[in-house]
Amino acid sequence: MRILNIGSLNLDYVYSVDHIIKPGETESSDSRNIFLGGKGMNQSCSLAKAGAEVYHAGMIGRDGTAFLDACREFGVRSEFIRVVDVPTGHTVIQVDKNAQNSILLFGGANQALTETFVEEVLSYFGPEDILLLQNEINLLPCIVDRAYARGMRIALNPSPFNSRLEEVDLRKISVFLLNEVEGSQITGEKEERNILVGLKEKFPEASFLLTLGVKGAIYADRDQEIFQPAFPVKAVDTTAAGDTFTGYFLAGVSEGVPVKEILRRCAMASAITVSRKGAVPSIPYREEVLSRLERELH
Ligand code: ADP
Repeated sequence: MRILNIGSLNLDYVYSVDHIIKPGETESSDSRNIFLGGKGMNQSCSLAKAGAEVYHAGMIGRDGTAFLDACREFGVRSEFIRVVDVPTGHTVIQVDKNAQNSILLFGGANQALTETFVEEVLSYFGPEDILLLQNEINLLPCIVDRAYARGMRIALNPSPFNSRLEEVDLRKISVFLLNEVEGSQITGEKEERNILVGLKEKFPEASFLLTLGVKGAIYADRDQEIFQPAFPVKAVDTTAAGDTFTGYFLAGVSEGVPVKEILRRCAMASAITVSRKGAVPSIPYREEVLSRLERELH
């Protein structure tokens, strides 16, 4: 089973700060690192590192060709990444001393997708494949409608959650991958139990993967609900924790691994990610995740 991820490619400028800057405040940072990121790229890399056959589709400017090298390095298929005449999207990320982050996003080429491009990419995929989407690119409603019409199973990480998602026909989504904040925004509920009830009421046919930060994650569908605690680690940078979880989850689904085992892999993979700085480079490879899980059992 192949996974097509039509998603963002961002250059991430990560600054270490004492605390997240307040309105009107100026604070200096003594460390800046540049990483290749974007929820789309992070999730494609997580999928590839987890061992899935993943095709990334999206757009970059001429300043973003490092993404093509990275795709080669991590094993992400990149034939559907187009270089266009728009600057590559980028983020400015602050990480404070408690590993909390704040993210400013410039869309750039991620907002330049065209219907012709989408149609062409989708023409290579069908009912046997999974489409993964996040909310950092344009044309989401069109992509969902066309992929659904082709019989694809659609997984959505509704992040960042904003009013643009209201234009998407969410009944066409098979799997929602979301954190507590997004779950709360979709349902209007605060408490995790009520979020799950609200999600199931709204989308009775879908399955859900609700991540709860350091508390862990819950998988739910019509027939079952499984709680997976987080593995205790010293958190250094929580960037890409959810993206790691998403990638490992769909990689497990595409391999036919039982959900309970998939969740253990996801939790271990994202625990490793939060214990390291940065996004893509901090996501562990499958071998590391499996050997750490093996050690947990002994
Ligand atoms: P997002 O990055 O989308 O906000 P979460 O914060 O819910 O996602 O984190 C996703 C997953 O990463 C959690 O379900 C958990 O397994 C793992 N995780 C997050 N923070 C920690 C932490 N401090 N220690 C261990 N695991 C963590």
